[in-house]
Amino acid sequence: MRAFAYARPGTLEEALAALREPGADLLAGGTELLNWMKDGIEAPRTLLDITGLPLGEVAAAGDGGLRIGAVAKMSHVAAHPLVRDRYPVVRESLLQAASPQLRNMATIGGNLMQRTRCPYYRAEDGTGCNRRVPGSGCAALESGDTSAHAIFGWSPSCVATLPSDLAVALAALDAELVTVGDRGERRIPVAEFHRLPGEEPARHNELPPGELIVAVVIPPPPDGEVSRYLKVRERASYGFAVVSAAAAVVLDGSGAVAGARVALGGVAHRPWRLTEAESALRGVPVQDAVAVRAAVERSFAQVDPPPGNGVKVELAQRAAVRALQMAGGAA
Ligand code: SF4
Repeated sequence: MRAFAYARPGTLEEALAALREPGADLLAGGTELLNWMKDGIEAPRTLLDITGLPLGEVAAAGDGGLRIGAVAKMSHVAAHPLVRDRYPVVRESLLQAASPQLRNMATIGGNLMQRTRCPYYRAEDGTGCNRRVPGSGCAALESGDTSAHAIFGWSPSCVATLPSDLAVALAALDAELVTVGDRGERRIPVAEFHRLPGEEPARHNELPPGELIVAVVIPPPPDGEVSRYLKVRERASYGFAVVSAAAAVVLDGSGAVAGARVALGGVAHRPWRLTEAESALRGVPVQDAVAVRAAVERSFAQVDPPPGNGVKVELAQRAAVRALQMAGGAA
């Protein structure tokens, strides 16, 4: 790791001014940035510690939704009464991510800024990885072992997935990021924040240099909506998702789906909303696993797994069905 300077801006304006300097990067919990520095992925000249800025509050928003400050700790957000009572899918996604020690350090903004866990991206020299060294190839595709990689939205340049559990839950709830920068304040839907690789896999997300995340806002949930998060991983105690599913369901009086929102994780380099399935689920009895499965399959008509990863198609569909039935009280 190279030597770096450390600064602690006292205001948001100071932080934005310092962020314009070449080689400056933001430090919050540090649980991801320090990995990048140790792996040689990033070598900032100055770390701007923003944990002293007033960006840690979790509070009800004026529209009845929730506003979560970007430097709020994962553990704090998971334990917050408004999150526990109104957005259980967010709480469950946080509690199934990382370890308790990491959750006590890691922040909400930092979680959403995570980069792929593709081992070639994290390797010491990074060659054979278009995301790390543009034009150097994709060792994952060339190896033929893409079992930890994408089945939706990938390209011949990169087949990586996004590791954030929280992003999947937030995308299912139509949450937005609030950012500030030279262009003032912007809102970006979480479902569109992370970029699909296309021909530019080195661009991870839609946050340009000089801009920072200040909050996440979640709209108020529809009356009667219940939300749940299901994570499938190799180790139950600690691990990134092989696949995951966030589901939010409203039932009518007969137990049929009146409204559903569902997103998958571990299948693309962004949370993957199953919009066709959401439409097809209306009127489906949530107890009827066969009918729920048929609706979910509507979102898999165009699925295109790379060679060696067909198993994830089945796993992802089963995870979606299970999460929808959990949210509907049928599993
Ligand atoms: Fe790099 Fe993406 Fe290929 Fe992994 S999948 S080696 S991150 S280009």
